Amino acid sequence: MTTVLTTKKRPSKQGMLDNVMRQFNNAADIVGLNPNIRKILEVTNNELVVHFPVRMDDGEVEIFTGYRVQHNNALGPYKGGLRYHPTVDIDAARALAMWMTWKTSLAGLPYGGAKGGIQLDPTKYSQDELQRITRRFTYALGDNIGPELDIPAPDVNTNSQTMAWILDTYMSTKSPNERSKNLHVVTGKPIGAGGSEGRDRATGYGVFLTIKFWAEHKKLELKNKKFIVQGFGNVGYWAAHFLSKEGAILTAVQDAYGSLYNEKGICPEHLLDYTKANKGSIIGYSRAGNIENSEFFGLECDICIPAALGNQITVDNAPVIKASLIAEGANGPTDVKAEEILLDRGIDIIPDILCNAGGVIGSYFEWLQNRNGEIWDLKEVLERLERKMKESFNKVAHKTKTQKIDMRTAAFVIAIERLEETYVQRGIFP
Ligand code: GLU
Repeated sequence: MTTVLTTKKRPSKQGMLDNVMRQFNNAADIVGLNPNIRKILEVTNNELVVHFPVRMDDGEVEIFTGYRVQHNNALGPYKGGLRYHPTVDIDAARALAMWMTWKTSLAGLPYGGAKGGIQLDPTKYSQDELQRITRRFTYALGDNIGPELDIPAPDVNTNSQTMAWILDTYMSTKSPNERSKNLHVVTGKPIGAGGSEGRDRATGYGVFLTIKFWAEHKKLELKNKKFIVQGFGNVGYWAAHFLSKEGAILTAVQDAYGSLYNEKGICPEHLLDYTKANKGSIIGYSRAGNIENSEFFGLECDICIPAALGNQITVDNAPVIKASLIAEGANGPTDVKAEEILLDRGIDIIPDILCNAGGVIGSYFEWLQNRNGEIWDLKEVLERLERKMKESFNKVAHKTKTQKIDMRTAAFVIAIERLEETYVQRGIFP
């Protein structure tokens, strides 16, 4: 489960849509994107909002609101996660769906972009309730998702268990001879339910790889570099795990409940064990001191990994950030104004659509295995993941250099050019 921030300052939901549109328009201007194709990519293809009833443990019925936004499918089926969080609404789903389109395009995958979820605080519900909510949401989505149409995956506050419930519900609505054909309707499943080796760590491993490639590019050693992580869920933990193995030192962690700091280093494994026994929270961990949430981004460090929600790095904290690299494990963690400040200050940003693409690349591997009846081992998955991440990183690094643009703009330019080519070749129906 991805732990998320619910600090006093709620991330602005409108902000995420503003952000992705500005990022898109900025890159589209550089590409000189065909105005008709710009019109298509500026809007989402389909938006589904469902209200559905679920019986709670006390016998009462509660009505939930779920979303699935399908932004674009020019390159292949819609792909993207489902998020369970109070900030989920139509604009958040639109923004996150658009980021998925750019992410899958940049990664060279045969997918489009989608995102969705349910507006709720999962800590307020029992496991049984979450199971019924998930199953009823799947039923409400009906045939708007499908293995060759739209393939959900985990995101904030959803995990492999959530995917297993979705799979089972979706398959149960099909006739017996159709059921096993639908194994790839979701990715990020547990291994026993058709999941892939390595999908659990794919996003965090990808975040680590992009940092490693960046360091190689800059001729820097990762050993003894200090890093801080916001969000100690699936992405934050695995990124910290792989960076620590490389000799970098995790000095601070922030989650939804508070912030920890230890100049000498925090062991990710030890902290993970602690959180598992502490309802997912890092609070009370004895091998690090508590600090104020407001101090977190200003801490002395080399690398900062936001791996929680959108709009965490803003004009308020961008001026005090000490890191020389921001690696975006989360989607949309840096707003456009903050980015200008950071770039002016000479801080590098590995953009979300490159940095956290390991997750959807891992999903693609799972989908391929399900489709072809294959089972790959962990080594094979991680090797293939590294190859794909390296290809994307090199493309972005090359574009950054040749066009003298920042990494995010370069990543968007590559993603948009691929989509433009597809539309130009195919034309517009009818
Ligand atoms: N939720 C992840 C993301 O934002 C993974 C999506 C997927 O695997 O489809 O990229």
